[in-house]
Amino acid sequence: LTEELHQSQKMDAVGQLAGGVAHDFNNALGGILGAAELLKSGKNSPEKHDELIDMIITAADRAGRLTKKLLTFSRTGAKVSSAVNCAHIVEETVELLRHTIDKSITVSVENSALQTSVIGDDALLQNVFVNLGINASHAMPEGGTLTFTLENLILDEEYCEVSPFDITPGEYLDISVSDTGCGMSSEVQARIFEPFFTTKDSGKGTGLGLSAVFGTVQEHQGVVTVYSEVGTGTVFHIYLPVTGETVRRTIEQKDLTDASGQ
Ligand code: ADP
Repeated sequence: LTEELHQSQKMDAVGQLAGGVAHDFNNALGGILGAAELLKSGKNSPEKHDELIDMIITAADRAGRLTKKLLTFSRTGAKVSSAVNCAHIVEETVELLRHTIDKSITVSVENSALQTSVIGDDALLQNVFVNLGINASHAMPEGGTLTFTLENLILDEEYCEVSPFDITPGEYLDISVSDTGCGMSSEVQARIFEPFFTTKDSGKGTGLGLSAVFGTVQEHQGVVTVYSEVGTGTVFHIYLPVTGETVRRTIEQKDLTDASGQ
């Protein structure tokens, strides 16, 4: 428990780090640069030309909202209070990744969820998926498969009681991001959510991506888990409470906490 507490204090601190903003912002800038370079080549069909311009607008808009949200986040905590469609955010992320990561990586989406709305913040959630997608691409330098899967699931009381995570029973959207990359040893897995933990060369990794993922998922009353095997690949699961009973309860609890001035 002490270790957990220590970890969550470090996560709080990371919310205030300017370095985190720079990292997320860089992902958006990467999309803008990639699209601008393709435009500069001048060899695009009119449709492709328009598509690239749209990508630049979307990424710039995301970057703008991101800084705004993160500034708000460092002052008062994120405002995760409107319904957002995760399937839509995942589709947008995949589109962005297809243009920015190596062509030897196949990116696909499998969506069997009936309910894909959650209460949250779209720019922060997109950042979670972009971070996980880019990490997956780094794990597959020789190419491979990156799959986003959306599924609904019910976590009952029995499950939540034995789960190592602090999770409330209810309906969840399970968004998983899996790759066929290098995988991680258990020593690495144990440290990935720590701010500044990276196994990448300096200049390539900041070690802030997954701590931002952890922080955002926590803000959304969700849970993030990881399964990984060296040489086989990695799958991250993000469980988010779906709109409906679970979310209504969460908001009521939050209102009560807010009302009591905490
Ligand atoms: P960074 O990517 O800047 O190193 P992150 O916090 O995003 O920082 O990730 C921390 C570390 O977790 C990475 O350096 C890498 O060792 C490991 N990691 C994250 N995602 C994956 C993945 N999909 N496959 C293998 N290792 C991963």
